[in-house]
Amino acid sequence: MNSLQITDLSKTYNNGVKALDAISLDIPKGMFGLLGPNGAGKSTLMRTIATLQEADEGSIFLGETNVLKEKETIRRQLGYLPQEFGLYPKVSAEKLLGHLAVLKGIGNSKNRKEVVEALLHKTNLYEHRKKNLGTYSGGMKQRFGIAQALLANPSLIIVDEPTAGLDPAERNRFYNLLSELGEHAIVILSTHIVEDVKELCTNMAIINKGQVLFQGSPTAAINQLEGKVYRKTIKKHELADYKERYTVIAEKFFMGELMVHILNEGTPGHGFTTIGADLEDVYFSWIFGGIKPGFTN
Ligand code: ADP
Repeated sequence: MNSLQITDLSKTYNNGVKALDAISLDIPKGMFGLLGPNGAGKSTLMRTIATLQEADEGSIFLGETNVLKEKETIRRQLGYLPQEFGLYPKVSAEKLLGHLAVLKGIGNSKNRKEVVEALLHKTNLYEHRKKNLGTYSGGMKQRFGIAQALLANPSLIIVDEPTAGLDPAERNRFYNLLSELGEHAIVILSTHIVEDVKELCTNMAIINKGQVLFQGSPTAAINQLEGKVYRKTIKKHELADYKERYTVIAEKFFMGELMVHILNEGTPGHGFTTIGADLEDVYFSWIFGGIKPGFTN
């Protein structure tokens, strides 16, 4: 199956913000996590891949297809679940999916009925199919979003910040659904939630300020930090001092005490103990710890 190749993609908005700064990514089949803080450029990148906005420079290819030029071809293969999508609150899931199926060109009514039913089953919404969308919970709305994104049996699926506002059970259900999709398609999951990527993705990239900081597997990212992350429990009032002396990448309360993680080349001493990094340490090392190229490898 084709991979998605993004090469030197740049975009500067009219207000001068450089949202994408020569982004290059190679995205294979499966779940790909695009991780970055708010403002990193994730939505700009997702919308550009989804043919909803133009780039200034660079290219995107899905196999042989030029995404930036052959928009109609891409749209036929694309499932896009935007951060927020308008739902018609007084229409049932079954009805809206039917309408959207017509728009996607599934003209034959018997065929359409089958496709809609299959998707309602797949997303666990079948028993709620007659209910108006306005009565759906956050998780049900997200699953409906997936159902509509899957209408055209897409080979490329883009999901923008999907788990915000879902409770843990809903999130799990949603994870299961997404990971199934990754077996047959390229699924790009854009998120600032490290957990989403940790649970689901075989490949990932960390982006910030429009640039790719890391690209590879979550395991490779974690291995890079081996022997470089240390932990210590400190008093709350000591935090500022520690931040001055060390590269603090995480601070969390644990049973009423403050635990800090630092990034350090070599043993820092002073009561710090070495720990195995997790993906959260990786993410914050890149975003806040300012790992310099060459720090690792
Ligand atoms: P993310 O999805 O990672 O939060 P965005 O792609 O939304 O990042 O935004 C990247 C940067 O571009 C931000 O600084 C944002 O303020 C800016 N930006 C996004 N959309 C526009 C726009 N339509 N006009 C001007 N600036 C924008």
